[in-house]
Amino acid sequence: MNATKAFDIAVVGLGAVGGAALLAGARAGARVVGLDRFAPPHEFGSSHGETRIVRAAIGEGVAYTPFAQRSFELWDRLSVESGETLVTRCGLLVLGGVLPHATHVPQGFLETTIAAAQSFAIAHEILTDAEVRARFPAYARFDGERAYFEPGAGMADPERVVAAQLARAAALGARIRINTPVMSIAKDGDGVIIRTQTETIRAAHVVLAAGAWAPAFLPRDYAMRLTVTRQTLHWFAPPANSSAYEPSRMPVFIWNDLYGFPIATPGGGVKVATESLQATVRADDYRANVTREEIDLVTPRVRAAFPDLGAHLRGATCLYTSTPDFNFWVGPHPEIEHVTVVSACSGHGFKHAAALGEAVVANAMAMPATAIPASWSVARPA
Ligand SMILES: Cc1cc2nc3c(=O)[nH]c(=O)nc-3n(C[C@H](O)[C@H](O)[C@H](O)COP(=O)(O)OP(=O)(O)OC[C@H]3O[C@@H](n4cnc5c(N)ncnc54)[C@H](O)[C@@H]3O)c2cc1C
Repeated sequence: MNATKAFDIAVVGLGAVGGAALLAGARAGARVVGLDRFAPPHEFGSSHGETRIVRAAIGEGVAYTPFAQRSFELWDRLSVESGETLVTRCGLLVLGGVLPHATHVPQGFLETTIAAAQSFAIAHEILTDAEVRARFPAYARFDGERAYFEPGAGMADPERVVAAQLARAAALGARIRINTPVMSIAKDGDGVIIRTQTETIRAAHVVLAAGAWAPAFLPRDYAMRLTVTRQTLHWFAPPANSSAYEPSRMPVFIWNDLYGFPIATPGGGVKVATESLQATVRADDYRANVTREEIDLVTPRVRAAFPDLGAHLRGATCLYTSTPDFNFWVGPHPEIEHVTVVSACSGHGFKHAAALGEAVVANAMAMPATAIPASWSVARPA
């Protein structure tokens, strides 16, 4: 075992949230170290799969909106620093008012989105179905209720964001340990001790951003309230000789229980997904391959919405870590002082991740940042 090394902040888990925390700490001049059991960006957690919808007016709850807005600012800065396109602002359409299925999305999603856009002065338009069809030919099948269009929204590239955060943090002096699982986190006097197989690290504060592995670091009665579910993503062939599915003509969308993206990479497919909140798994032993049954389940729904899409090109899987009410858990660890738990993001965390990482680090360092709502604190089991 090596000698103990001391840091101001240690970040456990370097996905979208942990990487943002590491970068925020490095920007603030703190001595920071980040550890990950794999080598991010990787495909075993929650921050991969080519695209994430990022939007500013948040239908999951108006309180999320400042985090989404601040994240756009942080990605813009990181884009300049890294020279990478991290976000493509192709716009967002929320098509229709009701999502009657068992998704993480709450009732009143469209109305809350509009309310958030109005109260935060976020540019948006309310469109009729005829206007949607005329402006965005990919949505020729939309015939129903009004639609919400947010032109400044779009899609982030999660792998690029994760990589850029870590590269920038390292350039600013952060230490990074990849392929290094943290075995334990414990109180140590007025700080915290982290143990890996080869090292002991002492930190004044720990940010626990372990995503689907977070339950391993929580008391059992808290861990039991988190549900890890396996999600599938599907890419379909765009029609030949049509630009309708290019980002310049197709906003990302949320439409009943489907959501999806225009073609994100030249020659690539149109990614469409739904949510499955039934398939509970353990982070360590979920099946990565998409099955024939899963493809057969989603394909008819995709064909009904987008009849001109062609063959199923490929699939991928990803993990949600959800709280009972599909809100976030962000706050002090229930048992270990100086540890902040920052990821259970219930399947909608990416768009807030940059600001969340910044806010937990700022709180630890008594610096100003986006205020974390008290209602997100790690809920005490009833
Ligand atoms: C299919 C899918 C689609 C999504 N779509 C959207 C979307 O469109 N918009 C949106 O805003 N959000 C979306 N989300 C949610 C969003 O992607 C997640 O909330 C976010 O990426 C979670 O990031 P994280 O850092 O908490 O987790 P992760 O990225 O999983 O990071 C956790 C990290 O912790 C590491 N780790 C775990 N245990 C240990 C340990 N013991 N020691 C060291 N390291 C450890 C893991 O290796 C991992 O790298 C989606 C999620 C999925 C799965």
